[in-house]
Amino acid sequence: MSVQTIVSQHEQQREIVSYDPGTGAEIGRAPLSSAEDVKAAVERARNVQPAWANLSFRERRRVILRARALLLQDADEIAQLISRETGKPVAEALAMEIVPTLDAMHYFAHASENLLRPQRIDIGQYGLMGRSSRLIFKPLGVVGIISPWNFPLATPAQEVVMALMAGNAVVLKPSELTPLIALKIGDLFTRAGLTAGLLEILTGDGSTGAALVDARVDKIMFTGSVATGKRVAEAAAKYLTPVVLELGGKDPMIVLEDADTNNAARGAVWGAFANSGQACASVERCYVQESIAHKFIERVLAETKALKQGLGSDPAIDVGSMSNERQLQIVSEHVDDAKARGAQVLTGGRRATNLRGLFYEPTVLTNVDHRMTIMRDETFGPVLPVMTFKTEAEAIDLANDSLYGLTASVWTRNISRGKRIAALVHAGTVMVNEVVYTHGIAQTPWGGIKESGYGRTHGRMGLLELVNTQHVHVNRITFLPDLWWFRYSVAANKLFHGLANNFTSGSVVRTSRLLPGLVRRLFENRE
Ligand code: NAD
Repeated sequence: MSVQTIVSQHEQQREIVSYDPGTGAEIGRAPLSSAEDVKAAVERARNVQPAWANLSFRERRRVILRARALLLQDADEIAQLISRETGKPVAEALAMEIVPTLDAMHYFAHASENLLRPQRIDIGQYGLMGRSSRLIFKPLGVVGIISPWNFPLATPAQEVVMALMAGNAVVLKPSELTPLIALKIGDLFTRAGLTAGLLEILTGDGSTGAALVDARVDKIMFTGSVATGKRVAEAAAKYLTPVVLELGGKDPMIVLEDADTNNAARGAVWGAFANSGQACASVERCYVQESIAHKFIERVLAETKALKQGLGSDPAIDVGSMSNERQLQIVSEHVDDAKARGAQVLTGGRRATNLRGLFYEPTVLTNVDHRMTIMRDETFGPVLPVMTFKTEAEAIDLANDSLYGLTASVWTRNISRGKRIAALVHAGTVMVNEVVYTHGIAQTPWGGIKESGYGRTHGRMGLLELVNTQHVHVNRITFLPDLWWFRYSVAANKLFHGLANNFTSGSVVRTSRLLPGLVRRLFENRE
């Protein structure tokens, strides 16, 4: 079944058709925005942004909180739509999209003023010379957000809220696979009274995204695949448009022999199969210490076999359908490659035969190794490959043997051991006895290293990506020239040697030895 393709020419407007991947039924249509549409939207956003930036945080907060109240009021209807457009269970739409979005709306509506309060910088001994420095945070202008299909509400909506609270206007280009949810986000803010133009939703495909990158916005917040991320960074370089890249992951889970085996097994199963494994932070590789491997794998297997797979609208369903045919194909290829290289399929390992839509059975593999694509490339599907290790050092080496570095997890009852190992793992976020979920904590930064991208979203670090940080430096002594200004002389050179030897040591006592020279220089340099 082919899903979500651009089909029709309707009154000169090309359209995207959105399908339910669980049933193949069409659920709606949205415009395929052209480069001209993008230009016009960016211009509308530019025109209205200054007035929005001039509002107080309290005034901006009011709009965000009204949109939040509407999201809460419509939560069930929106969760149903998310489920239909992605194939995920309604339960996951609620728990993994609506709850974190509401939380982030509350947090950034209330905390942004404080997080963006001007900040004094301690400038050391320059402060003794009547100078002071502070940082002020100013809106960027127009922020372009390009988002994927796997969390069509939570990913873009939280960035929209952060960008708006920071005083920006936003042009959002959602995934072509989930345009209807994006239109819902626009609808919530319109009903909340947000001035037209401050949030432009441009449904479309890759060409629309490329046009947005080319539209000279002030920043691009991109979430998606590594390949597209690289294309976006390259295109953005043309105008030196700054970019945040939230890309893929191959997130490892390390289970040590002192872990709570049962809980770790449950964490692995949820971490690998929630959202049908289509989360950038999904458990993509599991490493378990040899001594507990048998017990752990047995429990993983029992938990996996107990999962119910089916249409996301059924409240008793655990695992829904995958969101698109291309992703299902990648999963099949990875599993087939692993099987051909000797992996053992303990359960799953194939497309679900009893269901009509894009379902791949939750799959557990053992006998896997790092030659296999399943352990190297992002699978982004319901597959849990489990490999054993003997020593802690070996587990860390295996976890770090990856092009990616988004999240990782370490499982142990010994918390200080967990924290020590976490610091040795190369990833943007490392969780101890937890998986996946910190994208849902509004206060903590989210982002990767290596090919998982750069820059951060969420938390204070994420908010700072959406402002220009300006340094304002003041000299209160208005009547004296600086000692390093023209003109130079033998005495000046001597004083500069003194500065090198004493002032730069940071010691006020040592600097005070320079006072006679400083006074001489002031007199020498007065006229
Ligand atoms: P994708 O790269 O195919 O598409 C992402 C977005 O980019 C879509 O809106 C798409 O239309 C747009 N796009 C495509 N070509 C473009 C171009 N040339 N210029 C500008 N925009 C363009 O990714 P996807 O398949 O939608 O999403 C899955 C990927 O996203 C996975 O790799 C996943 O790991 C990653 N992801 C990362 C995070 C994170 O926070 N790090 C979160 C969710 C998903």
